[in-house]
Amino acid sequence: MARQLSRIEQGFGHTYDCKLCGGKVEQDNVKSYQAIRTLPKQKSLEHEIPNLENTRTGLIRIGTFSSSRVHSIGKLPGLYLVHRRCAQMIRHAAGCTKPRVSLLTLISILSPTAPVDSSNFKPLSNLDGDLFATIFDPCPTIITQQIGNDVSFRKLLHNLPPELLSLILPSCQAEHALAITVGLPEVYFNQVIRDDIARQRITVGIQATRLLHDQSHDEVYAEKNVKLSANMTAVFVSLGGEIYLQDIRERSSCGKPSKHYKDFSLDTGPQLLALQVDHLGIRNIAFGLGKDKKPQWLRDENRLVNIFVDRAATGSFASIRIVSDPIKIRMIDIAVPDRSNHPHPRPLMPYHRGIWVPYSVQTTRKPYLQVEGYFEPSYVEFSTCKSVYLSYRYYGGICGIFNESGEGREEVPLGNRREMRTVRLIGLYSHAIPGGELSFIQIRTDDGSFLPLLPDVSPYEVIDKQEHIKVKGVWWGATSYQFYFNVVY
Ligand SMILES: [Zn+2]
Repeated sequence: MARQLSRIEQGFGHTYDCKLCGGKVEQDNVKSYQAIRTLPKQKSLEHEIPNLENTRTGLIRIGTFSSSRVHSIGKLPGLYLVHRRCAQMIRHAAGCTKPRVSLLTLISILSPTAPVDSSNFKPLSNLDGDLFATIFDPCPTIITQQIGNDVSFRKLLHNLPPELLSLILPSCQAEHALAITVGLPEVYFNQVIRDDIARQRITVGIQATRLLHDQSHDEVYAEKNVKLSANMTAVFVSLGGEIYLQDIRERSSCGKPSKHYKDFSLDTGPQLLALQVDHLGIRNIAFGLGKDKKPQWLRDENRLVNIFVDRAATGSFASIRIVSDPIKIRMIDIAVPDRSNHPHPRPLMPYHRGIWVPYSVQTTRKPYLQVEGYFEPSYVEFSTCKSVYLSYRYYGGICGIFNESGEGREEVPLGNRREMRTVRLIGLYSHAIPGGELSFIQIRTDDGSFLPLLPDVSPYEVIDKQEHIKVKGVWWGATSYQFYFNVVY
């Protein structure tokens, strides 16, 4: 049975981004957005109009609840904001006048767990709403004048060879590209949608609303353990122009055969878990390597992506732990007892980089965040450089590892031998510093000493200490208060 995940403490803050499309929310324009509480079964604020009480701090009062832009580290926000237009667009296009799929459910499905490139973000307009309503209308009527009177021009486009149309679509503005796809085979719509983050999220919202309408479902993330056996089935779901992993379970004789079901066999316990991940879910999974030493993906999917790879420390593994949003899987771990509470997030890297330890050095005992998953780390190779350069936060602890000098970076001379090195990682904790955590790294130099020297650790609690030998390099990633790193062999 899946268990609902809401393990992190709820705070009071909120951010001014729409949790449906990902775009900015204009805080002054209070009629353009609405707020909801971030945990299930909390008071509905959907029909209240926010009252902006302080423009500088972004303090809003909504019903009896007050919340500001002040972020509490490591806590769940108190409110999520969404554009009213986005919520209406999804419900209208899904054909749900009495929605059974809550906004909180949609936010769980649409929140990104991996980095997104939002540089091409184009806000959604009323035209988008009309287009989605037209595209998802189960009884298509005549295409209305909103998408252009020039029917002959559209006819011309529709008669183009597919290759030519595929070249034109990416160079059009999103909503125009979308308009061209009305009435064309789904493949064109999918092509436009998956390259446009905001419209892809709205599409996934519409499709998920329809799929979940008659089903019982969780509103937030849930987790479960799955025992691996010889006869397994992976279930995929098509959302927003992509195929996502929906479930992994033991094969059952009454399972309906479908193009979205993929049976697979694990005769011996697998030794490797590889995932192709994007911002909304897991697109592919492998439990082993082929003769070419590449992961044997369950589904044909040849787009080049950075992947997440995990291995069991002790040979094979017998169970996996799955974290899912209400409609698709977000994270999969090898389930072993000592990993039950490891911190996220996890690195996505090219497979040829080497074998990396998927979990970061532990600097916090807090359970992982609900909607934080994967990131693309920086990588520094020790085995090819004479020195590394570290940067530190003002209160101590590293915040960057580089193979080139730069302002504020401390040089750590390793020596001339270009070789694998022994590396120590240390995680410390103190209530007295922002975020509570500090991380340090030490590398063994040619003369056998470990550099840089550590500060006096007595004021801190040591919560993790790792030593790795024959290390090729280290991956790292940083947010304002957190630093994630580990070794690559
Ligand atoms: Zn929005």
